[in-house]
Parts: sequence; C-alpha cells; structure tokens
Amino acid sequence: MKLSRRDFLKASGAGLGGFALLGALKPGVAEARPFNPLPLKKKVGEKTTICPYDASGCGFLVAAENGKVVNIEGDPDHPINLGAACSKGASLRQLSADNPRRLHKVLYRRPGGADWEEKSWDWAINEIARRIKKTRDAAFTAKDSQGRTVNRCEEIANLGGSALDNEECYLLSKMNRALGVVYLEHHARI
Ligand code: SF4
Repeated sequence: MKLSRRDFLKASGAGLGGFALLGALKPGVAEARPFNPLPLKKKVGEKTTICPYDASGCGFLVAAENGKVVNIEGDPDHPINLGAACSKGASLRQLSADNPRRLHKVLYRRPGGADWEEKSWDWAINEIARRIKKTRDAAFTAKDSQGRTVNRCEEIANLGGSALDNEECYLLSKMNRALGVVYLEHHARI
C-alpha cells in the first residue's frame, strides 16, 4: 500500500491517541493528553500553495470556509519543507486579504509630521510618480567625469520583497533600469 507522509502522520496520530487513552484509563498512570499532530479536522476547502516570502518555495495548505481563510499550515507532503514553517511562513495568515488587521487605506505621514493622514490611492500613486520624476530629472547623469555614457540615477534606490512574483520583479527591473537606477536590491540579500 502506498502511504504518503500525511497518511502516515494521521495514522500514527490516531495510534498514539488510542495509546494515550488506554494509558489514561489505567490506575496510577498520569493523565495523558491526546496527541494530535494534525489539528485540522474540519472538512473545509483545503488548497496547496507556495510560501511567497522567499525562494525556498515551501509548500503550505490553505483552508477556506465561506470565502474566508480559516487555517494555513505547512504541507506535510511538500518535498521541501515536509510540513515545517519558519517564523515568516508561520505568519502567512497575516497576508490573507481577510485579515482584519490588514490596512485597506493609504496612510501618509508628512515630513516632520507626527500623525498619519488617510489618503486615496489616486493621490498616493500620483505623488509617488511625481516624486520619482522630480528626483530622477534632478539627479540623472548622462556622462561620467571622463565623458563616458553612463545614463544613471544614483539618488533613487529600489528594494524589492519576496512577496513579489516573477512578473512583478520583471516589470520593476525594467522600470528601474529605464530610470537609470543602479541600486536595485532584494531584501533577502541585505
Ligand atoms: S519564508 Fe520560510 S516558510 Fe516561506 S519559503 Fe522561506 S523558508 Fe519557507
């Protein structure tokens, strides 16, 4: 019989649970807690996914009920992480769109200001574009001190994150190279 790692964990969990119950019924034996390595009992839509945080590519199971994420846990059948999760992976629930602590509005703090102001997305996108253009136009260097063409802008840096996918990374790289940005980095390398 082909037994997946998950089946094995389920079977051994049931076996150990029964063993613990027998131990609890025996006089003079300390009360045993039921052992349950897989707490997800409810039949909810469970889908596999890949952790977006870094290139390790650990596998996770996401369970949803009535359109809401109710559980995220390491996928025990995934060959890379075998069900484990680092601290970032273990906090994946925070990324889900229905996390009540997730911000849905742009918050802006003026230079020198102490308070956050709510702004619209249109305002934020226009403001970012305006500041990038202003800085780039002021700092663009076409030739270096020896007359060599460099076409670079050293006053802007771009820091990418692991939650970006391949297509987003491609577009960001293209945009930054077009602007002449040379300081293009990724948070996993810092
Ligand atoms: S952040 Fe952690 S859980 Fe996510 S892929 Fe990287 S090592 Fe795996």
